[in-house]
Amino acid sequence: MVKYVYFFGNGKAEGDGSDKNLLGGKGAGLAEMTNLGIPVPPGFTITTEACIAYQKNKTYPEGMWEQTLEALKKLEETTKKKFGSNENPLLVSVRSGARVSMPGMMDTILNLGLNDETVKGLATSSNNERFAYDSYRRFIQMFSNVVLGVEHSKFEKLISEVKKGKGYSLDTDLTAEDWKGLVEKFKALVQNETGKPFPQDVMEQLKLAINAVFDSWDNQRAKTYRKINKIPDDWGTAVNVVAMVFGNMGNDSGTGVAFTRNPSTGEKEFFGEFLINAQGEDVVAGIRTPEPISRLKDEMPGVFAQLEEVYKKLESHYKDMQDIEFTVERGVLYMLQTRSGKRTARAAVKIAYDMYKEGLIDKKTAVLRVAPEQVDQLLHPMIDPKEKYTPIAKGLPASPGAAVGRVVFTADDAESWAAKGEKVILVRDETSPEDIGGMHAAEGILTATGGMTSHAAVVARGMGKCCIVGCGSIHIDEDEKVFTVGNITVKEGDFITINGSTGEVILGKVKLVDPELSGEFAEILSWADEFRKLGVRTNADTPHDSKVAREFGAEGIGLCRTEHMFFEGDRIDAVREMILADTEEERVKALAKVKPYQKEDFKGIFKAMDGFPVTVRLLDPPLHEFIPHTDEDIQKVANASGIPFDVLKKKRDELHEFNPMLGHRGCRLGITYPEIYEMQVYAIMEAACEVAKEGVKVYPEIMIPLVGHYKELEMLREMTVRVADEVMHKYGITLKYLVGTMIELPRAALTADEIAQYAEFFSFGTNDLTQTTLGLSRDDSGKFLPFYVEKGIYKEDPFVSLDLNGVGQLVEMGVTKGRKTRPDLKTGICGEHGGDPASIFFCHRVGLNYVSCSPYRVPVARLAAAHAALKQQ
Ligand code: PEP
Ligand code: MG
Repeated sequence: MVKYVYFFGNGKAEGDGSDKNLLGGKGAGLAEMTNLGIPVPPGFTITTEACIAYQKNKTYPEGMWEQTLEALKKLEETTKKKFGSNENPLLVSVRSGARVSMPGMMDTILNLGLNDETVKGLATSSNNERFAYDSYRRFIQMFSNVVLGVEHSKFEKLISEVKKGKGYSLDTDLTAEDWKGLVEKFKALVQNETGKPFPQDVMEQLKLAINAVFDSWDNQRAKTYRKINKIPDDWGTAVNVVAMVFGNMGNDSGTGVAFTRNPSTGEKEFFGEFLINAQGEDVVAGIRTPEPISRLKDEMPGVFAQLEEVYKKLESHYKDMQDIEFTVERGVLYMLQTRSGKRTARAAVKIAYDMYKEGLIDKKTAVLRVAPEQVDQLLHPMIDPKEKYTPIAKGLPASPGAAVGRVVFTADDAESWAAKGEKVILVRDETSPEDIGGMHAAEGILTATGGMTSHAAVVARGMGKCCIVGCGSIHIDEDEKVFTVGNITVKEGDFITINGSTGEVILGKVKLVDPELSGEFAEILSWADEFRKLGVRTNADTPHDSKVAREFGAEGIGLCRTEHMFFEGDRIDAVREMILADTEEERVKALAKVKPYQKEDFKGIFKAMDGFPVTVRLLDPPLHEFIPHTDEDIQKVANASGIPFDVLKKKRDELHEFNPMLGHRGCRLGITYPEIYEMQVYAIMEAACEVAKEGVKVYPEIMIPLVGHYKELEMLREMTVRVADEVMHKYGITLKYLVGTMIELPRAALTADEIAQYAEFFSFGTNDLTQTTLGLSRDDSGKFLPFYVEKGIYKEDPFVSLDLNGVGQLVEMGVTKGRKTRPDLKTGICGEHGGDPASIFFCHRVGLNYVSCSPYRVPVARLAAAHAALKQQ
């Protein structure tokens, strides 16, 4: 018989912290804390396996319900209460808990087990009638919303009416009689909305609640969250049924959430919030603004001391920052959750660094604690320190970085504006799990209410989005689509800048600057370098980018796209002259004008990369990219260059191709117009010789693009070597240089053994290789590819993350075949995938020598390469 239900209580648990996959994060944490002797209310966990089995045809797997009833009996014995009793009733919470936390994405029900009879028992056993009826109405509200689908706001409206009628301002003003009356109104509302009475049978309540939690695994917001966070659909959620403890029993009770270190900055400080006389949902939902945890020290010193002891124990036990939830019932502390805390990249770096220095974890663990996907956040823009500005409002700095964008007030608008290419800031009173798509689409998030642990704060930190919460001075009018601060009105579409590191809101656009590596981050990256096997280079075509990349740790250039240089300044005129030339003679004349520019560019890059290899790719794009397309633009160029309009237009028509990406580009240009490539090789080698004479260590690698047949490379290699030898001879020096090719056509991968005869290196151009393998246009597929990803045909955009089953096979084959011919063949990747952690794992596995990515991805790649090496061990 499969075991589906795991009990914990009385200082002993059937599972433990290592059972995360089976019990979910929450269930494993509760079991582990129980075993550690930390005060946890007793309960049981129904496994994720049960959830997966249930999903198949919405029925429980065999034995699950019987095991649940057994565990419930044990729970009654442990608590000395009885489920459904009208004297001393046992109440439970029913909560979801997946392997990884998905804050607020799935359902929770508290106070389950209350009905018209048991509420009386609760009033007697607690000697607090007001509390009993407050709990009952909370239960009806939550259960009806989660399980029966009655809108939350309809209940809130009834509460508001009573408050208004009686002249109360706070919920805490309502008396036992008020709540009693509301319970009746709530039940009538449920009858009205669902056509059935509110369920009074506690067993039915339990079953429905368990089903609802199982079902919530497949609600829209959970699905969206999983997609964004790459969580597999087949993990399922566990269900935790735990004896209720009450934070709403009066002023000696309360509830809170805390982190053992600051989740935003990583500082070593106990960080969190609590609410007196409240239940857990009140804190997380951002309904009441909670107080900082330090105040608990004044209000309940004994409890605070105990809590301190517990959190220290948890942190040294788990050797990681913990996110904890607790409730105090009449002065007694209970822990309701512990899990590894979500943190910003900045905090992840600081915590990993500090914990290594504290001797809590080793270097490898420290490196593995910082997720490559996450550090991208640290490389996000900040407000230029030189900028002067006056903030119009200040909230809590919930997630760092800065963002500029147009104000929108709904998640839907954020998504649709972003789809049109607008940068937006999502401004809301508070966010809810339904807003997840809009939060993802926005540059940043600003909320008027909520604390550092509110939904917006937690989710934004996880996404690495800049976020400000609890900005109480802004007043949002969603209907009018404006917000006001004092006498300033900000309309939908107006630009604002937000600084998630300070909480400042600024009207208009403020200049942002790119970040630098912090000392601790730089150190962690240097530890990563000790473990990684892959080299990390950069794709750069200017001395500036080369410098940036070097500062981020790039060990050379893996791709310098020479065509970018053709557009700079007035050299485009000479390039156009070259393209418009009708004879070889004219072309050579025009090329002679281009060459000095190219040479200067290369010298700048070689100097910036002193000591490191630089792969320069010869001209790749179709020539028509360099001449204007519309008649209007042609006229402008005609005016500026003196070339007649008709000549330009004729050339444009001549160069037109139906499929330019499969057309006259790459080495095909070098084959048909050898003088173009020749000029480039002269420029590269002359530049190299000249800087070498100045003492620069230069390692040029000349790369021929879009080779599909070894004969193309054979011919072009011959030319390259001839020119290089001639130049070195002229300068009287010998340089070590390489000639290689890009593997970016399936035929090149398939015949890599032949091609390797003429190549000293291969660089996988996975942008084109993806395009040509999948038959998907790099430029046009954006219109339908997202749909493919949504439907799960491709798990991810294959232009972002390498299609391992398809394109990956070609890469692997290219490496194997190439090395068969030439064992010391150097191999790398220079498509966009070179900066994508999952693709980098693959590159490590197939034994590439290096990856090359854009300068700002270099730190991500260094870390991902280390993770790949460490995880393979
Ligand atoms: C590639 O195709 O992967 C590549 C790096 O070259 P480009 O993007 O310039 O075509
Ligand atoms: Mg390419």
